[in-house]
Formats: sequence, C-alpha cells, structure tokens
Amino acid sequence: MFRNFKNVSRFIFGRGCFDQMDDILNEAPLPEAPRAFLVDDVFEGTDLEKRIPARPGDLLRFVNVDDEPKTGRVDAIRDEILEFVASRGGDLPGSVSGIGGGSVMDIAKAVSLMLTNPGSSADYQGWDLIQNPGVYHVGVPTLSGTGAEVSRTTVLTGPDKKLGINSDHTVFDQVALDPDLIGGAPKEQRFYTGMDCFIHCVESLEGSFLNSFSRAYGEKAMDLCRRVFAESDARHDDDLMMASYFGGMSIAYSQVGVCHALSYGLSYVLGLHHGIGNCVAFDCLEDYYPEGVDEFRLMMDRQGISLPRGLVQGMEEDRMEKMIDVALFLEPLWENALGPDWKKKMTRETVRRLYERM
Ligand code: NAD
Ligand code: ZN
Repeated sequence: MFRNFKNVSRFIFGRGCFDQMDDILNEAPLPEAPRAFLVDDVFEGTDLEKRIPARPGDLLRFVNVDDEPKTGRVDAIRDEILEFVASRGGDLPGSVSGIGGGSVMDIAKAVSLMLTNPGSSADYQGWDLIQNPGVYHVGVPTLSGTGAEVSRTTVLTGPDKKLGINSDHTVFDQVALDPDLIGGAPKEQRFYTGMDCFIHCVESLEGSFLNSFSRAYGEKAMDLCRRVFAESDARHDDDLMMASYFGGMSIAYSQVGVCHALSYGLSYVLGLHHGIGNCVAFDCLEDYYPEGVDEFRLMMDRQGISLPRGLVQGMEEDRMEKMIDVALFLEPLWENALGPDWKKKMTRETVRRLYERM
C-alpha cells in the first residue's frame, strides 16, 4: 500500500512575510473567532512580539520550552484556551498559531488537535489515532532543521513514552517561512537544530525505505546544509529554512534511522533536546553512517562547536534499561536503517554499547 500523503495546505516564504499574518488569518475559516498565538517565550518583550497580529480578545500566550513538549502540558494549554474562549462566549478559537522552534510548533499542532478530539493527548501518541480535524493551525518557525513545519507528526513525551501524534490532521494548514525570524538564534542552537535536518537526510538517503521522492528532497536538503554549515562563513538563513522544509519532505515518504532512535532514548531519560541529542548520538555512529559522520564532524569543526561528552557514564541500571526500551520501541526506524531482520543486528547489548560511548 502506498501512503496517500497529506501536505501543508498553504505556505508563504520570504524575508518579512510574517507581516502578512493578519491577512492570512483573516482569510482562514472563522476569522471572527478568537485567535490563539502560542509563542516561544524567548520572544517576550522583543520586536517580534509587537508584530504578532493579536487583536483585543485574542489570546497571546508565551510558552517556555526548557523542557520539550509533554502531553500534560499540551492538555493544560488546551484547557486554558477553552476557558479563555468560553469567557468570551465562544466555543473554539478560529486558529492556533505556533511561533517558535520545533517545540512550540509541535505544541501548537497538538493543542489544535486536542481542541477537537476528546481525552488526553497521551491517548493519541501513535499512528492515525486522531479522528477529527483540529482547529486551523499555523506554523511559524524561528529555528530551522526539525522539519516540524512540514511533518505529519507532533513529537510528545507522555507518561510512558516519547512518541508523536502521527496523523494527516496533524499537518499545518498554513506555514509562514520568514528567514528573518531565524536570524537571531544562538550559534550552538542553530547548529544543533540545523544538524537535525542534515541527519534526517543521511538517515533517509541511507535507509532501506528510500525512493525517488525522498531522494530528490533529501539530496537537495543535504546540499543546502553543506552550503550553510561547510562551504561558507556567511549566514544563509534562506537556504537553511528550505533545507529544513525539504529534509522534512524527504523523511515524510521514508523514515529516519539509528540516530533518531537513540536520540529519543537520550531525551526521554536525560531530558536532552532533540537537536543536541541527535548530534551526541550521531557522533558515535561512524559504523552505520561513515560518510555522514565524517561530514558532520567537518561541519562541527567549521562552525566551532564542541559536544558534551560522558553523558551516560555512571548511569543507574534502571535508567539505562529504560533508555534502551525507548530506543528499541521505534521499530520502523530500525527497519528503515537495518532492514527487515534488524532485530538480529540490533540487540539490547549493541544499543547499550552505543549509549555507553555517549
Ligand atoms: P526548540 O524549539 O526546542 O528550541 C530550542 C531553544 O531555542 C529553546 O530554548 C528556544 O527558546 C530557543 N529558540 C527558538 N527560536 C529561537 C530564536 N529565533 N532565537 C533564539 N532562541 C530561539 O528547538 P528545535 O530544535 O527547533 O525543536 C526541537 C523539538 O522539535 C523537539 O521537541 C523535537 O522532538 C521536535 N521535533 C519535531 C519534529 C516534527 O516533525 N514534528 C521533528 C523533529 C523534532
Ligand atoms: Zn529529527
């Protein structure tokens, strides 16, 4: 069976395009209903805050993402929005916009879905469990690399697993790609998140699920990453933004691999953010992705980045076991990376040895 893939309905690209948000939201369904803006709190009190088209009666809520998105957090923000809208005599907001990196965009996607689907977001971690379309949702990246702006998932840490809500309804109705918005990101964060894109491409291009669709997007995204991180000292934010988008398109029709599976374990147990977790894991994967890891180290060198080491040394046994469980639970990732008989190649012991190197 081929997947009939749902894509972002509309996107706008270009420096300064964020200033068209008001027009865009006026054209969305239910333009009179309150708009909810979920905004990374790094932008509180900045010029960007003043440019957000929040009218009197709309909700502008800053979101802290020191911790990556959790299901309980999503449910709480959903309840807050419902309360806010009810206090104005309404039922649902007209739109939910997420302005931030992958974390805030994922929170916006998940909140939009949980406004129209009963229960907790933890009930929907998995594949195609969402029944009802969410509230119209808009993604505005302020960091590039995750591909969250284009993907059909929102990655959440729940009571017992880190797993996305994967569904056609998760995909944004609108994204605004304004390269000016990623310009202020700190060098390290920009690199870690940018490498998420590079690693998406390596894992997609080296995976057994590869096809021409994924290759076309993956190769282009990888070239853009090289341009941004290896070949020039200038900041090519336009290219980085497109790399993220294309990298996301590449994995949409294939899958990620070993690095992402291990990185999920790192972030579940150590709370490490996705971008840096991927970098830490990828740096130990020369046996699986030799050329990709060489290139990654070159880019790290070129950008003057050094990674934390010894994160797993001395870890208690039960935490190590949990980390291995989280990683091995992600069966499609292993199958993409190592083929259908992956279980023979990737034992608990092998996963443990890889973690012990981090
Ligand atoms: P992030 O959103 O977690 O943000 C990292 C840090 O950068 C935060 O402190 C944030 O406040 C700050 N930040 C964001 N934009 C900034 C800017 N312009 N200037 C200064 N600081 C800024 O980072 P990320 O790497 O974009 O996202 C990681 C998250 O994305 C994880 O939760 C991961 O699970 C998720 N993810 C989702 C998908 C998907 O398809 N949905 C794919 C990959 C990763
Ligand atoms: Zn990723």
